[in-house]
Amino acid sequence: MFWAMQISSSPPADGGTSILWLRHDLRLEDNPALIAAMAGGRRVVPLYILDEHAGGASRWWLHHSLSALGGALAARGAPLVLRRGDPVEVITALAAQSGADQLHAARAFEPGLRAADRRVDGALKRLNIGFHRHLSTMLFAPERIKTQTGQPYGVYTPFAKACFAAGVPEPMHEAPSHIPGRADLGSDDLLAWNLLPGAPDWAAGLRESWQPGEAGAQARLEYFLARALADYGTARNLPGITGTSKLSPHVHFGEISPRLVWHRAAAAPASTGRDVFLKELLWREFSINLLWQHQDLRRSPIRPAFAQFPWAHDPVGLHAWQRGRTGIPIVDAGMRELWRTGWMHNRVRMICASFLCKHLLLPWQAGEQWFWDTLCEADEAANGASWQWVAGCGADAAPYFRIFNPVLQGKKFDADGAYVRHYVPELAALPDAHLHAPWDAGPEILQNAGITLGETYPHPIISLNEGRERALAAYEQLKNQ
Ligand SMILES: Cc1cc2nc3c(=O)[nH]c(=O)nc-3n(C[C@H](O)[C@H](O)[C@H](O)COP(=O)(O)OP(=O)(O)OC[C@H]3O[C@@H](n4cnc5c(N)ncnc54)[C@H](O)[C@@H]3O)c2cc1C
Repeated sequence: MFWAMQISSSPPADGGTSILWLRHDLRLEDNPALIAAMAGGRRVVPLYILDEHAGGASRWWLHHSLSALGGALAARGAPLVLRRGDPVEVITALAAQSGADQLHAARAFEPGLRAADRRVDGALKRLNIGFHRHLSTMLFAPERIKTQTGQPYGVYTPFAKACFAAGVPEPMHEAPSHIPGRADLGSDDLLAWNLLPGAPDWAAGLRESWQPGEAGAQARLEYFLARALADYGTARNLPGITGTSKLSPHVHFGEISPRLVWHRAAAAPASTGRDVFLKELLWREFSINLLWQHQDLRRSPIRPAFAQFPWAHDPVGLHAWQRGRTGIPIVDAGMRELWRTGWMHNRVRMICASFLCKHLLLPWQAGEQWFWDTLCEADEAANGASWQWVAGCGADAAPYFRIFNPVLQGKKFDADGAYVRHYVPELAALPDAHLHAPWDAGPEILQNAGITLGETYPHPIISLNEGRERALAAYEQLKNQ
């Protein structure tokens, strides 16, 4: 039994008013800030202030997540208040309007939110309003997991060992069945925030693929635990099947508690899949720790020498990569999966990212920015850290000279071609042996498959050998500087 604290179904609401500032914790279950805001029979004013920096796919997700959360909160008695603007102004105005004398929020680790928190804290102190932050979006606070000399970890493996040794705290709080709130405070209209695409409507694939919100998150977890966890160790590398949890957007928006995910997985029967999955969850923790230490993670390489890397300027190549028109099937399949569904398989993310920063020699920040706009789960920590990892300039990163060969990767991890055939249907009739390198197929094979390179499918925008040699030469140049 996970629940250490049970909430009575109808607490008396006579203990004052708390504002609950929701950010990356859009859920009711195991939400420590919500429970603290209610403690002592207080009324709760749940508040969401629009994140103006989210990319397009994240905005789509946010709309639906807020819609689900708003419905759940209203049904329990505490309608969600939506506001936009500077957090200091929004929160002080809402405190004056509601008479709130406490603010509760999940601790944030993103630099923008940390700066906002400092300003809000200063403003509320002057008004004698307490600002209470609660660990909710991570398993451990960043200052908790340190080396023996008290330094933050820069290498994943000892970091993960230290997390296992520390023991992940159990989730604490069942979703309250009643939340005493206020229905008279007014809210922005979610639709008027225009988070959904207008014309053209590019979100059809997102609608088919996802159910944003807490119920969707819990259903996804249950499905994964029952159907895929045991085989995760090997299946997670195969993009043609659903071998991973696909929880990342739900976890990013805090629709499910990371502690809950951890303990539900840890309680499953022993398997390699279970152990590998727990370690993957710790990559997320590691990324947030890196963002905590390197606030400019999205823009500046952790290894400073890489600021001098001789990146190319190639808008045509960048556009072909973004649109899945590079002529390299596994790369195009991945980029099209991303565009269509707002998510891409992790193995293919690594292949596509490597192709961009190595074969095309384009700066990793350009790839990070595209992912930021197109991933539902675009996350400052995981996206920044992962791009730096692939580009070789991050903490504990893959060395730059280790260059993925996308053809070999495709043959190994999409051997039956299910993934490429799904997202690049114009190649579907090619035999497996040629699917990952159509330029090597003879004219007769191409003709039989209905393919004319340069017309029905692009020629490769770069020869893989030349791209590789150029990348290695650029790396030598950096080393010699
Ligand atoms: C270039 C690149 C960019 C990425 N950008 C993001 C991003 O913006 N947001 C994001 O959440 N992940 C990002 N990742 C990490 C990883 O690809 C995704 O977390 C994972 O593919 C999500 O699918 P899943 O939920 O099925 O993962 P699973 O394999 O089921 O893993 C479970 C959970 O662990 C966490 N996780 C797994 N791997 C990683 C990792 N390497 N780094 C951090 N967390 C991890 C995620 O929360 C994930 O939901 C990126 C990886 C690469 C190579």
